Amino acid sequence: MEDCLFCKIIAGDIPSTKVYEDDDFFAFKDINPVAPVHVLVIPKKHIQSIAALTPDDAAVAGKMLFAIQKVAETLGLAQDGYRVVFNTGEKAGQTVHHMHAHILGGKEMAWPGV
Ligand code: IMP
Repeated sequence: MEDCLFCKIIAGDIPSTKVYEDDDFFAFKDINPVAPVHVLVIPKKHIQSIAALTPDDAAVAGKMLFAIQKVAETLGLAQDGYRVVFNTGEKAGQTVHHMHAHILGGKEMAWPGV
């Protein structure tokens, strides 16, 4: 999608620190980390958010969890644990309207964090 920041990152038009890529997903370091490890996992298909998923997206939605698992392992987070956040919509704080999972780790985290 032309005006989408994350589509531009996938295309390489905007630089990023890539940590993982396969046919369907791209993962890169968040530019404004809120934890010692903060990586974003995004589908290459432009989907606005979880709220915009359709039945046609079932395969990519399912595969995204495995991509998150793989990225977390690559980052060395599997042993100690990590948090996965999908901000969905304005009130949840979604600022980039291309579905993304925040993987947060490398510290002890409190819950609830709302
Ligand atoms: P959201 O607030 O859940 O939509 O998350 C968007 C995330 O994208 C924020 O954590 C931003 O710091 C991050 N972000 C925005 N622009 C860039 C960029 O150019 N590179 C990497 N991360 C970015």
